[in-house]
Amino acid sequence: MDNCSYDPFRPVKMPKTSITIAVFIDALGWRLAHEHGFLREELPYRGPLATIFGPGATGDPTILTGLKPRDHGHFALFTYDPSNSPFRKVLWPRLLPQFLTRRGRVRRWFGKKLSRYVGGNGDFEVRDTPFNLLRQLGYNDNRDLYEPNGAQATLFDDLRRQNVPFHVSDWRLDEEENLAAARKEIATGKLRLAYIFLPQLDILQQYEGTSSQKIICKLGWYEQEIRDLIALAREHYDEVKVAAFSDHGMTDIRKECALMQIVSSLPLEFGEDYFAVYDATMARFWFHTKEAERLIGDALLYLSDGQWLDDETLRSWGCDFPDGRYGDRIYLLKPGILLNPSFMGRYRYAGMHGFDPAHEDSIAFFATNEQTLPRPQGLEDLRRVLSQSIGIAA
Ligand SMILES: [Zn+2]
Repeated sequence: MDNCSYDPFRPVKMPKTSITIAVFIDALGWRLAHEHGFLREELPYRGPLATIFGPGATGDPTILTGLKPRDHGHFALFTYDPSNSPFRKVLWPRLLPQFLTRRGRVRRWFGKKLSRYVGGNGDFEVRDTPFNLLRQLGYNDNRDLYEPNGAQATLFDDLRRQNVPFHVSDWRLDEEENLAAARKEIATGKLRLAYIFLPQLDILQQYEGTSSQKIICKLGWYEQEIRDLIALAREHYDEVKVAAFSDHGMTDIRKECALMQIVSSLPLEFGEDYFAVYDATMARFWFHTKEAERLIGDALLYLSDGQWLDDETLRSWGCDFPDGRYGDRIYLLKPGILLNPSFMGRYRYAGMHGFDPAHEDSIAFFATNEQTLPRPQGLEDLRRVLSQSIGIAA
């Protein structure tokens, strides 16, 4: 037995502590990040990241599950689902005269009511969605992604299963509150992952476009906040790994298309012959009659502002849903052309996302300080790459 060689005065070698700080900056496009040189010194290993097609609610699920939309099921907030619509029992908007329901303040107030009704966080935007159509809309909430035992296993489920301590931002809080919460948790010295979600750049670019001075200031603020997090983490951990990424870029709007009027001028009855959801960059149709399919198909076929998406394209984007829950057919506008008015409102946004995912302004961003970390090609690779950084089995 060699137990006698135990020396009580020899320093005990503690295992190295290591943290991965993952910062998700909504809508920070590769082009913008590259031109700005976003955290170039701190995160030198960087590149474009392929995005995923969808009008919204698509990026988070793809990042966290590592699956394409057809497999995780999330693609758009609104669907056509008259029998299960969470709004079908909301009767009273019918009683409001139209001159009131057109007003922004009334709509915002109603949006908050509706949000509470479907269990949302109060940010629910009905914007210009016609009230009488709301009762036929399904609402696809993806917030259970952050909770345990959601419909699909996520990066967070992997961490819970393996008892790995982590912190994740709370979507109910704003950016400052979430950054403060992350600092507090990082300073415990006990985390293996801090996952920080910063959503405001998306909204800001929708109103300002990509080249406004306000965007430069916002990027500068993000850089300083992230530098501070890194410095703080270095006080508490032997090793600080950082990955910053986004879900998509932002395209500046150069033209509008009144697609809603083109379709509603046809001799068809909305709700009877067809149903449509008008997102800001695409129109999704459910046809109830052959005549509606033919008339709407032909009316948009020769419009130069966009194109009908064929099955092959949707399949290659991972957005083919055999049950047609997001529409029988989708008409997508060209990058930079805004569908206005749409269910997002009657407003000339300066920037929008949800165009062709291969377009240069749609491309997302990834950067890290880990030289040996494999470079993710697309959003669906982030779960695997972050798992590798943290050192867990995916
Ligand atoms: Zn986004």
